[in-house]
Amino acid sequence: MKLSKKLFSLIFIGSISISCIAQNPITVGEVTAKPGEKISGYIIVPAGRDSDIVKVPITVINGIKAGPTLALVAGVHGYEYPPVLAMTKLSQQLDPVSISGKVIIVHVANVPSFLKRTVYYNPYDWKNFNRVFPGKIDGTNSERIAFQITKEVIDQCDYLIDNHCGDGNEDLMQYLYYTEIGNPEVDNRSKQLAINFNLKVIVHETNRTKDVINSLYVSNTALLRGKPAISIEAGKLGGTAEEDINAIMKGSYNILKHLKMIAGEPKLDFQSVWVQEFKIITSEHEAGLYYPIVSRGDHVQKGELVGYLTDYFGNNLQEVKSPFDGIVLYIIATPPMSYGEPMVMIGRF
Ligand SMILES: [Zn+2]
Repeated sequence: MKLSKKLFSLIFIGSISISCIAQNPITVGEVTAKPGEKISGYIIVPAGRDSDIVKVPITVINGIKAGPTLALVAGVHGYEYPPVLAMTKLSQQLDPVSISGKVIIVHVANVPSFLKRTVYYNPYDWKNFNRVFPGKIDGTNSERIAFQITKEVIDQCDYLIDNHCGDGNEDLMQYLYYTEIGNPEVDNRSKQLAINFNLKVIVHETNRTKDVINSLYVSNTALLRGKPAISIEAGKLGGTAEEDINAIMKGSYNILKHLKMIAGEPKLDFQSVWVQEFKIITSEHEAGLYYPIVSRGDHVQKGELVGYLTDYFGNNLQEVKSPFDGIVLYIIATPPMSYGEPMVMIGRF
């Protein structure tokens, strides 16, 4: 009797403290949202030697009921538009009254790349923004933005979805990355995110760095800090196709339902296929013109020619052949090609 009474009071105190925490205001950058509020504004990234301040647009939705904090990030690569457009729609649709927990939407993480329309690289420091995390407070433009996003968004969330697509030069099929980091609890919950987002293909990744000081990727930074995360790829070639925007919208709602942050069950339209091995073939030449032969989603055989590289005068430099029977996850579909850049990614089931 004594024990059960004690247990009851412990559970009671526990539930009170959880709901109090969940219903507190949350401050992200310049935005503070009280329970029941949806507020848009900016994370201000201080100026540095290479640029003035950067204003990263965010929307914070603080539900009236208790629940986890979900971060939805877009625009890590500034020429990838369906994620950005999906976040705008989502931010308008989500209602704090019907949400349990908090949603932090980063509309465009890499603002300089978005505004200057650069593929892969930030126009101030020419770094790939998805290779500079967790960032540096006094680093280059990319590193300073990454530092603020790590501090304000990743460190405050419980789950993270990083939304990408084929960059301006990439003909890409819809798929997502499930990255296993060797922490069974985090891995299992990330896997559930991957299944419930429900794209047709899930790429199972196991070899990303485990160095928390140099975590490089947005999703990897969340994972190594104990927060389940996945990376989405939906869209291609600088386009804004409805099917890609809709896939990101549907997946985001599925995740909100899976985490019990909104009412309803995730809608799973198909069983995803798992890619257990993949290879990205890169250019071995300083400069050239790339010619793809196959397209996104094509099935290819081992040894099949999928593309080739020539010099400016049309002389053959490099033939690109599939390393195994597999599927083309993406292929570069515009001519410019420089050393070390990807030419094709092929996955094997
Ligand atoms: Zn990207």
